[in-house]
Amino acid sequence: MAHVIVITGPSGVGKGTVIRLLRERIPAVRLSISATTRDPRPGERDGVEYHFLTESRFNQLIAEGAFAEHARYAGQLYGTLRSELERQGDGVVVLEIELQGARQIRESMPDALQVFIAPPSFETLRERLVGRGTDSQQTIDERLEVARNELKAQNEFSEVIINDRLGDAVDALERLVQTQLRGAVD
Ligand code: ADP
Ligand code: 5GP
Repeated sequence: MAHVIVITGPSGVGKGTVIRLLRERIPAVRLSISATTRDPRPGERDGVEYHFLTESRFNQLIAEGAFAEHARYAGQLYGTLRSELERQGDGVVVLEIELQGARQIRESMPDALQVFIAPPSFETLRERLVGRGTDSQQTIDERLEVARNELKAQNEFSEVIINDRLGDAVDALERLVQTQLRGAVD
């Protein structure tokens, strides 16, 4: 079974950026490709950034028990396919997922490392979402609304990293992952 690391935190906080840099430092870390019903953003490819599914296909997979976790986020379905975890053998796999999914994994895989990435301030989060330039104003407002609740849940997590200076956040995550991996080997 793969060694699972859950990275969560509000949209725009920098999860994807931090994970990309982590993987440059520790190439053995794999990324689970999630399934979603949302539309691809420009440049996103099916089977690379996500498995893009219709709502009916997604629901069929839920009924088949194909998901290790799944949740509705800002009107769309997102989920981690069990097959993605099985595909990694006994490797290290990062799940970049939202809060409800992180809670499900906490129940089903209590040994998985869970890290909450927090912004230095709510205003910074808004600036990053706007600055990323991938979402409409309406989508940004929706995501910020969800973020207010997600931020309240950070005390559920024993590991919280504030992504202020990017390099510092990656250093902190790298330390956590290395410690976790050493524990797995000992
Ligand atoms: P998420 O995956 O959490 O939705 P992204 O990784 O897409 O977030 O980051 C959102 C935006 O914020 C991107 O434009 C990214 O370049 C920027 N960003 C990420 N981390 C930092 C940081 N520490 N300082 C400034 N900008 C950042
Ligand atoms: P985005 O649409 O910006 O790619 O992702 C929106 C939110 O869905 C992010 O918080 C992201 O972490 C989360 N997400 C992506 N994949 C999954 C998944 O497989 N399961 C869950 N629960 N959330 C996911």
